[in-house]
Amino acid sequence: MKLRPPSSSRRVAPTTASLARWAATGLWMALASGAQAQGVDAGTLQALDAQIAKVSPQLVAWRRDIHAHPELSGQEVRTAALVADHLRRLGLSVQTGVGGTGVVATLQGAHPVKLVALRADMDALPVPEGTGLPFASKVKTNYLGKEVPVMHACGHDGHTAILMGVAQALVAMKDQIHGSVRFIFQPAEEGAPNEPDAHGVAPSFGAKAMIEQGVLKDVQAIYGLHLTANIPLGVAGYRSGPLMASADDIHIDVHGRGAHGSAPWAGVDPIVAASQVVLGLQTVVSRQLNISAEPAVVTIGAINGGTRFNIIPDKVEMLGTLRTFDEGMRADAQKRIRSTAEMIAQSSGAKAEVRFGPVSYPTTVNSPALTEASVPALKQAMNGQAVVVPKVSASEDFSEFQKVVPGFFYFLGATPKGLQSGSAPSNHSPRFDFNEDALPMGVRSLSVLALDFLNRS
Ligand SMILES: [Zn+2]
Ligand SMILES: [Zn+2]
Repeated sequence: MKLRPPSSSRRVAPTTASLARWAATGLWMALASGAQAQGVDAGTLQALDAQIAKVSPQLVAWRRDIHAHPELSGQEVRTAALVADHLRRLGLSVQTGVGGTGVVATLQGAHPVKLVALRADMDALPVPEGTGLPFASKVKTNYLGKEVPVMHACGHDGHTAILMGVAQALVAMKDQIHGSVRFIFQPAEEGAPNEPDAHGVAPSFGAKAMIEQGVLKDVQAIYGLHLTANIPLGVAGYRSGPLMASADDIHIDVHGRGAHGSAPWAGVDPIVAASQVVLGLQTVVSRQLNISAEPAVVTIGAINGGTRFNIIPDKVEMLGTLRTFDEGMRADAQKRIRSTAEMIAQSSGAKAEVRFGPVSYPTTVNSPALTEASVPALKQAMNGQAVVVPKVSASEDFSEFQKVVPGFFYFLGATPKGLQSGSAPSNHSPRFDFNEDALPMGVRSLSVLALDFLNRS
């Protein structure tokens, strides 16, 4: 995931204050502004900050431990066990193996009328770590039959530590909570653990698999965050409506008929047909979709076919991705990609077979009503430092939860010390890192959002 810094971020100096000073400032601001209208009351915030101060050293320890032991999508066995042990120690009844390796627990508050869910993702990526951190990953594992290095290059180690911290803080405050909180630790956000079968069918994974197992039962709203080095530390970025793009894997097989390279007329050349398909697909966004309504992206990222200079192969395989910000446009774009590829291939006697998935995430859409109601709490938790950010063409399967219940997803600024938010290595880079001072800010913001939601009638 890569973010452009929000335009207003230049005016926001990254805070260098210690956690204690940061939290104390927040309390002062809450008191000064009359906290009831702006999130939770001052006493609750003070109690929360006391819990956050207690859990802060553990947040860093958990994050570093998880970072040093990253696990790919669907393989989060050690991470899930760490989470489950922690939740059990807090006295929660814990469900494991949800949607693969997911972990779920629900905290019953004093008046369990309402139920709000908080979500963290736990998986890492096949990226060779190049941060040079003392707790850098040295892990290698098997991925689709190949040995690959593994790294928490998207900050999900931080997300997991943050939600473990939220659970600890809120359990300690449970007598003051007007409702229940469900903690959802999700596997496989980054993609499918398995390849589709011979028929192109892939089992559900990630958020979708957890939803199919009932994690949203009785849930009235869900909140989640993403750490980013591209927003300054101490600042949260949010947006009402579409925030992140839909993502659909594109697979196109162009079938021709192999022949000698010296006599192309004796066969059907899938390499030329595939080249025309790549160029034709450029017109889907530039000439076929109304990009004045919403932007869209079609990228072909891989073309594989052929073995030798004088052999026309039978087949060329292409991989790509489609990004949109509107579900109607997404369906339309899929149809147009299919017909453009099929018709162009057909014109030369070849045949294009198009399929989408296994990654097929809807647009991440923040419910406007929930966003409007939640922003004061986010601002309170961030000491006023919450800004509207532009749409991001990266994707998130948090969107699956938002299809079922109103959800609010936001970015938590975490530019590492000594770097600039506009040029810090982005998510998925081998050099991606985040400032650990963002961890308590993550606990504070998610906790305040949840408490505030439960307080609203
Ligand atoms: Zn990612
Ligand atoms: Zn991520």
